[in-house]
Amino acid sequence: MSTRAGSKAPSAPPVFSLAAELTRLLGPRKVLSNLSERLNYRYDAIAFGETPLCVVLPDSTADVVIAVKAARAAGMPIVGRGAASGLSGGAAPTEPGLVISFTRMTQLSIDPVLREAIAQAGVITLSVTEAAKPFGLIYPPDPASFRTSTIGGNLAENAGGPLCFKYGVTGDYVQGLEFVDADGEVHSLTRDAYDLAGLLIGSEGTLGLITQATLRLTTPPQFTRTLMAHFAEVGQCAEAVSAAIAAGAVPSKLEFMDRACTNAIEDYLHLGLPREAEALLLVDTDGNDLETVEEERALVEAACRNAGGTVRRAESDAEAAQLWQARRSVSPALGRIRPQRMNEDIVVPRSVLPEVVREIRALGDASGLHLVQFGHIGDGNLHPNILFDPRTESLEAVHELAHEVARVAIRHGGVLSGEHGIGSMKLAFMREAVDAGTLAALWRVKHALDPHGALNPGKVLPAEEA
Ligand SMILES: Cc1cc2nc3c(=O)[nH]c(=O)nc-3n(C[C@H](O)[C@H](O)[C@H](O)COP(=O)(O)OP(=O)(O)OC[C@H]3O[C@@H](n4cnc5c(N)ncnc54)[C@H](O)[C@@H]3O)c2cc1C
Repeated sequence: MSTRAGSKAPSAPPVFSLAAELTRLLGPRKVLSNLSERLNYRYDAIAFGETPLCVVLPDSTADVVIAVKAARAAGMPIVGRGAASGLSGGAAPTEPGLVISFTRMTQLSIDPVLREAIAQAGVITLSVTEAAKPFGLIYPPDPASFRTSTIGGNLAENAGGPLCFKYGVTGDYVQGLEFVDADGEVHSLTRDAYDLAGLLIGSEGTLGLITQATLRLTTPPQFTRTLMAHFAEVGQCAEAVSAAIAAGAVPSKLEFMDRACTNAIEDYLHLGLPREAEALLLVDTDGNDLETVEEERALVEAACRNAGGTVRRAESDAEAAQLWQARRSVSPALGRIRPQRMNEDIVVPRSVLPEVVREIRALGDASGLHLVQFGHIGDGNLHPNILFDPRTESLEAVHELAHEVARVAIRHGGVLSGEHGIGSMKLAFMREAVDAGTLAALWRVKHALDPHGALNPGKVLPAEEA
């Protein structure tokens, strides 16, 4: 079966006909048709795609319905887009069509009694916690991009972040959602059987367009303690993590950076981090009972020392804030080393972390390319990044190294993506990571919800085999 079975071929010059029709239906303020404007909607934070034929900026779910129905009538593919901070090419169109950019759908309300937020798709992630704060509540999912990413994009990718080791990922906080399907019908879902909302979460815009979500809020912990440990070898850091968790510690954050990351941050921010360390671990323990919080920190500290690490406790909130500033600055700091990067997002069982970080390190050293590692190591979620300059370094070699890294994860029982999604960037590895029967089942789900193959084509699933 073709992925685009049933699509209609456009009968008039496509840019003109779709944009003109949408301008007539929605008014000129909500439709972008000039090339100079459309060019801004062909990429995300990692990949370039095709220039859309038309861009719609809806204010409401009703606008989304109109746009979807018009695109369907014109036989055009539809790509949903939030802040385009994605790291898998998800929002970059693979073929010319309609982009629906949710950045104007920013209505947000907090219900302190029900402890929930109702957020339209374009609400910025950080705004949810900021709006909840006056009521003594927080929204825990904290992707490092939380100052720019949108709730729609977070749901579509099931975004995680440092706090997610203890508190869970985006999907754990979604109580319900509204979405527009491929035919322009609106559905309001809760998490009851069948949990169709759960299917939409993490579906990367390929099964429906999320227009609104009801998000669970919680109270912040009263106490937090922070420590930094550094190690002479990357595997020691992973051993410390496994040992600390096996000993019963449940830190709220467990973040790892290798020597290249630490040095990039030092060059950028001059925070006094140990440049000579091969691996750095940043840890928070938190809760409402100070004794338990400090006990947990002591467990982590002992595991780090036993693994050969050197430990520094943050003695003040300011010192803790500075250490976490280091972690949040990894991406901009790496951007100063090479203009482009290939970003991996593998997840492996914690028990194999030491071997995995060592193997990836060895692959990087042998390749002659600039490979760095960091990530949410408590979840086994690592971000090996290949930094490169396409003018002087071979793209083929970069792709081959990325593939080798993916193979390390698969060989150790891991998966390709923990939080950034498959998008277009990891499609090439899907057949090795997912067996043919499972891929066929995923295609059946895709066909059931998107029978015309109109929603974000060319993402997540490799083409069906004849
Ligand atoms: C510096 C940096 C740090 C990052 N750190 C993290 C991190 O710690 N954790 C993490 O999980 N991610 C992280 N990311 C990746 C990215 O921020 C997340 O994937 C985020 O959830 C994407 O949100 P967005 O609004 O930018 O979505 P976009 O990039 O615009 O879109 C992402 C995907 O969602 C789809 N989509 C967008 N909106 C909708 C909608 N309303 N309905 C249906 N589909 C939609 C798109 O089609 C696309 O497939 C980071 C990115 C950067 C640049």
